Amino acid sequence: MKILVINSGSSSIKYQLINMDNKEVLSAGLVERIGESESYIRHQRFFKDQESRSKEEKLHIKDHRSGLEQVNLLLQDSEVGAITNPDEIEVVGHRVVHGGDMFNAAVNVDDDVKEKIKALIPLAPLHNPANLEGILVAEKVFAKAQQVVVFDTAYHQSMPPHAFRFAIPERFYTEDKLRVYGMHGTSHQYVARQAARYLGNAFSQFNAISIHLGNGCSMTAIKNGKSIDTSMGLSPLPGLMMGTRSGDIDPTVLFYMGTKLQMSFEEIDNVLNKQSGLKGIAGDNDMRHIVERYQNNEADAQLALEMYTYRIKKFIGSYLAILGPLDAIIFTAGVGENSSLVREMACADLEHLGIKVDEKKNNQRSREIQSIAHEDSSIALLVVPTNEELSIAEQAYELANR
Ligand code: ADP
Repeated sequence: MKILVINSGSSSIKYQLINMDNKEVLSAGLVERIGESESYIRHQRFFKDQESRSKEEKLHIKDHRSGLEQVNLLLQDSEVGAITNPDEIEVVGHRVVHGGDMFNAAVNVDDDVKEKIKALIPLAPLHNPANLEGILVAEKVFAKAQQVVVFDTAYHQSMPPHAFRFAIPERFYTEDKLRVYGMHGTSHQYVARQAARYLGNAFSQFNAISIHLGNGCSMTAIKNGKSIDTSMGLSPLPGLMMGTRSGDIDPTVLFYMGTKLQMSFEEIDNVLNKQSGLKGIAGDNDMRHIVERYQNNEADAQLALEMYTYRIKKFIGSYLAILGPLDAIIFTAGVGENSSLVREMACADLEHLGIKVDEKKNNQRSREIQSIAHEDSSIALLVVPTNEELSIAEQAYELANR
């Protein structure tokens, strides 16, 4: 069975075509700058025993429908195509950011599901409209395929009220649904399952802290295979310091910006979401550059990295307190998988808690799951490559075969 996974953003579509019979990625690509005068498509075709082939195009793509039609053509292209007929795609799996408290698992798309994704737009004004648009155009372009949605928030629906409620008057929860939802659920669940399998533990009894460090960063406390707390909230803004997001911040800073500095909500939003984090402190949100500049003793990069890893360490401490005995700490995503320095700094001086990184193992690179724990570490420390697309495809596959 071939499954097309779609991640539709406000001006972009990312996609992967996966053959679920052997979990092989046949094609992957990206459509960018949809609606601008010059849009861009990059499509890659992968082969098991040959070099991959790719095609890049610059052309005007007026909307998501035209974008997905171009993807459909590339998937059937004589040079870089992987299918001969669009009907070969039996299932399309969509990533949807916000499922609110309405979805705790993947679902088949129907009118009710689309209405609910629409109703959740106030909670995710940037993401849900674009995700919904992706579903609507895929229903037209891949009309014969079963459409499935996988929500970024679903895994965190197991959090108890004392973790997900804000300590504000109840009506804001009951009437406006303001609470912690959490994000990156697909990734946290995927890497935790991989880690449990690697360690030979049953997932239903697996206790772990999962640390997803990409451009967006979040941590999840996992008890008996379920999310019981997570660092993002109503939106992806709170918690850890990120590439361009501030993470947790005293809300009084926002009042000050609004009243004393006369900034608008849009300006404050832009500062906290796009100009803060590593970028705000060291002028750059690419961790590779920050690490390089840290090693050259540049003060702003040193401070940025110290702040970034200090925040991770504080969350490790608080999650250890709520979880009790722990099987593993898992690092994943761009920074978590690649930066030995970040892992080392985040775990430094935690031997008294059973956490000790082995320097040599930590500096070895691998594409597979890797243990970086010192033999004296009582908690397993793992680097687990995330694969959100495969996870979406697996959930869609399971639903389609039910
Ligand atoms: P996204 O949230 O966009 O999916 P990724 O998971 O791809 O993000 O992670 C992007 C981040 O990973 C960037 O900050 C990038 O600098 C960082 N990264 C990638 N490779 C390395 C590396 N070798 N060392 C440090 N950071 C890295």
